[in-house]
Amino acid sequence: MIQTDILIIGAGPTGLFTVFEAGLLKLRCHLIDALPQPGGQCSELYPKKPIYDIPGLPEILAGDLTKNLLEQGKQFQPGFTLGERAETIEKQEDGSFIVTTNKGTKHQAPIIAIAGGLGSFEPRKPLIENITNYEDKGVSYFIKDPEVYRNKRVVISGGGDSALDWCVFLADIASEVTLIHRRNEFRGALDSVERVQELKLIGKINLITPAEVVDIHGDDHVEAITVKKGDKNIHLETDYFIPLFGLSPKLGPIGDWGLEIEKNAIKVDTLDYQTNIPGIFAIGDVNTYEGKLKLILCGFHEATLMCQSAYKILNPGKKFVLKYTTVSGINGFDGSRK
Ligand code: FAD
Repeated sequence: MIQTDILIIGAGPTGLFTVFEAGLLKLRCHLIDALPQPGGQCSELYPKKPIYDIPGLPEILAGDLTKNLLEQGKQFQPGFTLGERAETIEKQEDGSFIVTTNKGTKHQAPIIAIAGGLGSFEPRKPLIENITNYEDKGVSYFIKDPEVYRNKRVVISGGGDSALDWCVFLADIASEVTLIHRRNEFRGALDSVERVQELKLIGKINLITPAEVVDIHGDDHVEAITVKKGDKNIHLETDYFIPLFGLSPKLGPIGDWGLEIEKNAIKVDTLDYQTNIPGIFAIGDVNTYEGKLKLILCGFHEATLMCQSAYKILNPGKKFVLKYTTVSGINGFDGSRK
C-alpha cells in the first residue's frame, strides 16, 4: 500500500505543479498516471509546440515546461505510479481514501486531487479480432522501455510521429524493424518520414504500405502476423506487434466515483476546487465551473488554492501564515504551523 498526504490522479502540468505547492506546506504527494511518462497533454500531444502564455516565460516548448515542472517539484520527492489508470476509490472509516489502479496497485491518502485533464488517454486499437488475447504478450500500445526490444523482431503500425520516431529509434536496437501503414503517405513530420526512407534504403527498416495487419498468431506470445496488402495476405514472423494509432481521451472510471459531473467534467466549488465529496478535489482541465478556462495557468492557480485547503483539513486548528518563497526560501518555507 502506497501512503501519502495528497494522492494526485494525473501527472499533467496541473498535477506536477501541485507537488510544488503542497511541498511548500510540507505535504507529501504521490501521482498516478495512465501514461508511461509525466506531462499529460504537453508531453503526449504537443511536446515540441511552443507555449506563449505561461507567466514569466515568453516562449517555452511544452516538453521543456514538463521538464521544468518535474525539476521544480523534485526537491519534495514525489512518488509516481506511471502507466496505470486509477480505477476505483473506497472511503475508509478513518476518512481516508484507497485508490486502486487497473494493475491492482493500492494507494491510500486523506486527500485526493483529481488532475485528470481530458481523462485518461486510451490507446486507439486496430480492429483485429484476437488482439486483446495478446496484450502484454507481444502486443503493446505504448513503448515504455525500448530495451525490451533489443535483438528482437518488431512490427510497428501507424502513420504519425509516434510510429515514425519509434521505428527510427528501434532501428539501432531491434534485430528487425517493420513499419506497416495503411496509406503510402505518412502524417508525421517530414524529417521523420525522410529518416525512415533513408533507413529503408540501407535495409534497417522494412516498409510495407499500403497495408494493414489483420490477424495475429502464436500460442502464448506473438509469433507472427498476417498483413493484408491489396489482394495478397503476407505471413510475417515477429516477436512484437506495436500498433501506434494515437490516444483518445476518456473521463473513464473517474466518471463512476459518485462525483457531480457536467459535460464530461467534474463540478467544483471555486472556493477551493473541492468536489461534492469532501476530501476529493478536482483541478485543471478536468473540472468545470462558471467561467472555466482550460488553460495551464488556470490549473496552476487552482492547484495553489486547493493545497491551502488540503493543509487546513490535514492540520485542523493550526494557523497558517502565508509567506513568500522569496522571503522564506524553499527549505525555510515551513507553512508556519502555529
Ligand atoms: P492533462 O494535461 O490533460 O493531464 C491529465 C493527465 O491525467 C493525463 O496524463 C492522463 O493520462 C491522466 N489521467 C486521467 N485520468 C486518469 C486516471 N483515471 N488514472 C490515471 N491517470 C489519469 N494551454 C495553455 O495554457 N497554453 C497553450 O498554448 C496550450 N496549447 C495547447 C495546444 C494543444 C495542441 C493542446 C491539445 C492543448 C493546449 N493547451 C494549452 C491546453 C493545455 O495543454 C491543458 O490546459 C493542460 O494540459 C491541462 O493540464 P492538466 O494537468 O489539467 O491535464
